[in-house]
Amino acid sequence: MVIQVDSPTLASRVADVASSPVRDILALTEKPDIISFAGGLPAPELFDAVGIEKAYCCVLSESARRVLQYSTTEGDPQLREAVAERLGRRGFPTRPSDLLITTGSQQALSLVANSVLDPGDTVLVEDPTYLAALQCFRSVGARVLPVPCDAEGVDPDALDELITRTRSKLLYLIPNFQNPTGRTLSLGRREAIAQVIARSSAWLVEDDPYGELRFEGSHIPWISSLAPVADRAVLLGSFSKIMAPGLRLGWLRAPEPVRRACVVAKQAADLHTSTLDQAAAARYLKDADLDAHLDRTRGAYRRRRDALLDGLPQVLPTGSTWSNPLGGMFIWVRLPDGYDATTALRNAVANRVAFVPGAPFFAGTPDQATLRLSFTLHAVEEITTGLGRLGAAFTR
Ligand code: PMP
Repeated sequence: MVIQVDSPTLASRVADVASSPVRDILALTEKPDIISFAGGLPAPELFDAVGIEKAYCCVLSESARRVLQYSTTEGDPQLREAVAERLGRRGFPTRPSDLLITTGSQQALSLVANSVLDPGDTVLVEDPTYLAALQCFRSVGARVLPVPCDAEGVDPDALDELITRTRSKLLYLIPNFQNPTGRTLSLGRREAIAQVIARSSAWLVEDDPYGELRFEGSHIPWISSLAPVADRAVLLGSFSKIMAPGLRLGWLRAPEPVRRACVVAKQAADLHTSTLDQAAAARYLKDADLDAHLDRTRGAYRRRRDALLDGLPQVLPTGSTWSNPLGGMFIWVRLPDGYDATTALRNAVANRVAFVPGAPFFAGTPDQATLRLSFTLHAVEEITTGLGRLGAAFTR
């Protein structure tokens, strides 16, 4: 007798994660002769590979038995101390015990989402925002809503109305050189947003992987460092853009109840971030000069941003607009009405150049005429060649 049984199924929350047409086109951009303005990758030739190698050698030769062993979930004490010290130097007094080291800031995002959100909770985001944050919030069953934004970012009055009306549980913001728009929130906006959050019952998650890549102007205080939100703000940071993303090291700074919940969630996820990688990063921060390395990186990225900005008026259709980021990695473009960035990407890839269409970054109605250009990966000469190839991609 043959017994008929159902095939095993995936969880309903992941069942609709289909392959997207954009992802399929972008897979083509891995070809070596493509000049890619698509991915958010740091420039590999700028990694301090020698300094990082030295740090790994030191910790392995001096304390192999410690760095190859399991360790605590909260993270390497010396690394937490170094992060706390860097935050303090930039005006946000922090104790090592305020911090949890994570496996990239992507994990920090996921831990916070798992710690504070129930299915059906409302999360507010900038529109557009970081794609993987949208995925992260949706994967825990949250309802993600866009906050009305203008050229300066989140509109505090619209936020006030929306956060009250929807009884939102969490506001997610990228205050510096936002992914994907490159936009930075002014101090005035940050203060106004802090007041709104303080009057609500929402958590603030402030994601800042790009803040140390500032080319112009000076550091603007984090919203999390403003007094009204001290008990409800979580700040996320990352070593990916300042050292190397392959290390997969990030951190979160959170009030005690959230941090404790994140520690428990992390135990379930991976027990702790690699002992060896954390120890090497702590050693690097002690022996090497990260600020000098960052100066070199910022200088190179600034020249690349300028090369891309200088060339855009010649290659984009008349009537296009774009952002002028003061740091970070991204320029956001809006083509004139009637253009479709996904069609343009197909033409661009045929011409051996790539970018990312903007539509997937929207939590609300997608704007098909938008796209994101990353300026960090290629040297100035390649950027110039890429711009030449880009011009032919845009047809109405
Ligand atoms: N947040 C934002 C806004 C990002 O753009 C990224 C990656 N590009 C991350 C978080 C995740 O970075 P990582 O996990 O490498 O720290």
